[in-house]
Amino acid sequence: MARVYNWQIGREMPYWYPEHRPKRQFAAVFDTNKCIACQTCTLACKTTWTSGKGQEYMLWNNVETKPYGFYPLAWDLNLLEKLGAQNWEGERYSGRTIFEAAQPGERVLGWRPEDIDYANPNVGEDDCVNGVEKGAHFSGVHKSWFFYLARICNHCTYPACLASCPRGSIYKRPEDGIVLIDQGRCRGYQECVKGCPYKKTFYNTMTGTSEKCIACFPKIELGMQPQCFVNCIGKIRFAGWISKPENARADNPIDFLVHVKKVALPLFPQFGLEPNVYYIPPVNVPREFLLQMFGPNVDAAIETYQNAPRDKDLSGLLTLFGSTESMVSKWKRVEEQVMGYDEGGREIIRVPLREPTHIRQAFDAARGVARTNIS
Ligand code: SF4
Ligand code: SF4
Repeated sequence: MARVYNWQIGREMPYWYPEHRPKRQFAAVFDTNKCIACQTCTLACKTTWTSGKGQEYMLWNNVETKPYGFYPLAWDLNLLEKLGAQNWEGERYSGRTIFEAAQPGERVLGWRPEDIDYANPNVGEDDCVNGVEKGAHFSGVHKSWFFYLARICNHCTYPACLASCPRGSIYKRPEDGIVLIDQGRCRGYQECVKGCPYKKTFYNTMTGTSEKCIACFPKIELGMQPQCFVNCIGKIRFAGWISKPENARADNPIDFLVHVKKVALPLFPQFGLEPNVYYIPPVNVPREFLLQMFGPNVDAAIETYQNAPRDKDLSGLLTLFGSTESMVSKWKRVEEQVMGYDEGGREIIRVPLREPTHIRQAFDAARGVARTNIS
């Protein structure tokens, strides 16, 4: 085992291979507060990549209702229970990662779902914690709660799928950090299915190989965001590139959200994989629940997010979510306008901080019609 540095847990940890970061790392930010669970992302992925034989059950992208939704069943609960106590001392994780908790002879602490665990992909949809009592009304704090968690492969810096593969069939691309399974090398041992704590590799019984989210790399290579991003109805998603914290640049949108504002957090950082999909946590969910899911910076992230209406840079960058199919490498705000630029520095998008409001006449004499909606 090599010693590697994982900045999300604030310390070194053992990993099967030495630290070797790609030239640049694909990353994403999802704003959970805006997801409406329409599953358009799920379908966009399904129709693009997983409509073949043996892929029927595969959801490289899925959206589950937390706390009672899972795909596959109890994917997170099973591992959290196996891992035991997960304590933090400030921003340093003092519990065990899944590499540190591996059983003798194993490379990671994992488990393999049964077929039945994939049988109900939208189990728990819209089930809320606590019943809604008769006469209930909104009074500033939700007693009953749930939220939607959209999930894809995290294209982790220290992938457990890659570490688990005895054939060396899984690789992380040096040019963009996307994690792929070489279909020619894979022999279907399913160690990656067992090892990935997020359960984002899937075994195909027809081909006898395992498959996973490929971050739509043919689109990435053309400077475009993946299908699940550009089809997102709620405009919750933003794809880009993340730097190590010490190299963070405020004009890089992902760096700004993750490192500068610290408003977007990794999913289960305590697993130790340094996942590269970051979540703006939901504001109306009990903090204890969010702490175990997104780590110790949840309170600060929510406070920053709630202050966004008074922070023109943060609210400005949030308006770029879902505004273009292209990957935005740089951004800047000039007064009431927010601009996004591609890798070559070419402006690809410009949005106003506030949408202009146009009021129309209730009765349009020229067309002889009355309008019910005038703005
Ligand atoms: S989320 Fe799972 S499948 Fe994706 S890179 Fe990480 S360990 Fe591998
Ligand atoms: S398309 Fe967007 S809003 Fe709809 S479920 Fe997916 S992530 Fe949520």
